[in-house]
Amino acid sequence: MFRKVQPMQIYMLLPRRNCGGCGVTTCLAFAAKLASGEATPDLCPFLTPQAKAKISMLTMPPVKLVSIASSTASIEVGGEEGLFRHDGGFRREARLAYPVDLSSDVDETMGIVSSIDSIIVERMDSKLSVDFYLVDMRGMDLDLVEDRLKILRTYTCKPLILRADSLDAYFSALRILKDEKPAIVVDSSMIASEKLTGIQSLEEYPIVVLVEDITILDEAKAKMEVIGIDRIILGVRCHDIGKLLRYTSVMRMKALEGDKRFGYPILVDLGGVIDHYEGLATVTVSLLRYSSIVVLPRFMRRECIEGLLVFKQSIYTDPKKPRIVDPGMYSVGSVSRSSPIVVTSNYALTFDIVRRVIKSSGVGCWILAIDTGGLSVASAIGGGRFTARQVVEAIQAYRDRVDLDRVPIIIPGLASNIKPEIEALGFNVFIGPIKARDLPMLIRSLEYR
Ligand code: SF4
Repeated sequence: MFRKVQPMQIYMLLPRRNCGGCGVTTCLAFAAKLASGEATPDLCPFLTPQAKAKISMLTMPPVKLVSIASSTASIEVGGEEGLFRHDGGFRREARLAYPVDLSSDVDETMGIVSSIDSIIVERMDSKLSVDFYLVDMRGMDLDLVEDRLKILRTYTCKPLILRADSLDAYFSALRILKDEKPAIVVDSSMIASEKLTGIQSLEEYPIVVLVEDITILDEAKAKMEVIGIDRIILGVRCHDIGKLLRYTSVMRMKALEGDKRFGYPILVDLGGVIDHYEGLATVTVSLLRYSSIVVLPRFMRRECIEGLLVFKQSIYTDPKKPRIVDPGMYSVGSVSRSSPIVVTSNYALTFDIVRRVIKSSGVGCWILAIDTGGLSVASAIGGGRFTARQVVEAIQAYRDRVDLDRVPIIIPGLASNIKPEIEALGFNVFIGPIKARDLPMLIRSLEYR
């Protein structure tokens, strides 16, 4: 199994001046950061190129990092070093790609692209969306490839994964996609028919070696390496959920054991899956185990994609590092000095839900996010991190924005026990509902008091 490099191994390669130039006070602390992947050697100005190279080798993750880029966005995949998200793994979230058949009716195709591009889920201060398009150009004339890609680029700027059946088609596509680094799919039929003469000129692009069975993946990938291509993504086209799980688990475990043949990001293409629920289940399993990119089935409905985006964010949120918002006062809608203040924790998900329901109420409000260290309200109360004193001090810090004598203060329903203490200091306090969805009713009722 993959053994992480020890900070002391790295420390021995550092200049040991303890000058603080890298942002931490000692070389040992910097070594610990390098070992955990939180820093890069470039931050120390005194490292020799040789030491830098050695440290980079030592800290290289067992799954290679590969990036796919358009002219406006670059997305890295891979770089994983664990089997479980609580085990230092799951560093880079799995990505979703949507398949587009470039040879189909152009209006219909661009309509699909517009619809997929419009899927944006705002959650926990992130905008979640589909990351790539897998553009199928097989069987197309080269002129048509160029025309359609030009049109596609007027509809979307997402990075692309290209699939063609000849290198000439790729060369045509790349003439249009100047300044981009799309991924190039080389499938088993191309490999078998030896249609790879000249592929060396594509070495700067990530190459997806796409096969139906991992027993031939090794051989296919070896051919790429012989050619000199090592920016590889291992692709499996399969919709059998059991087989996929076996394939991807074997690949990740082998990579962590140090088997270089499998130390690459994994792309899963569900291909011909036709059953809606089977497709959804297979995508879900692939996101959990261990795909870097999942190509969605074509029929997938908008609400399913939105659900998958939320699911994916939950899986790839480090449970040891809760997402937080900065503590402080936030306005929602049009506010005045006497608009209600809704008090909540600074756990991003709680804050997000509260903000969303207030926004939907159409009433201007303040949200006061208390510093609970990212704990939810219930956990913060249990841990003594949501007290009357904290609330009062936080409100008083904003006396320039709100009228402290008049402003209604809504505390969470779960924190009702702190109401008397806050009221005793002369504040106008209301106990909010247990569920955030009931907040708008209370807020509206305050307008008529
Ligand atoms: S900048 Fe380099 S020498 Fe200075 S503390 Fe950091 S690692 Fe040590």
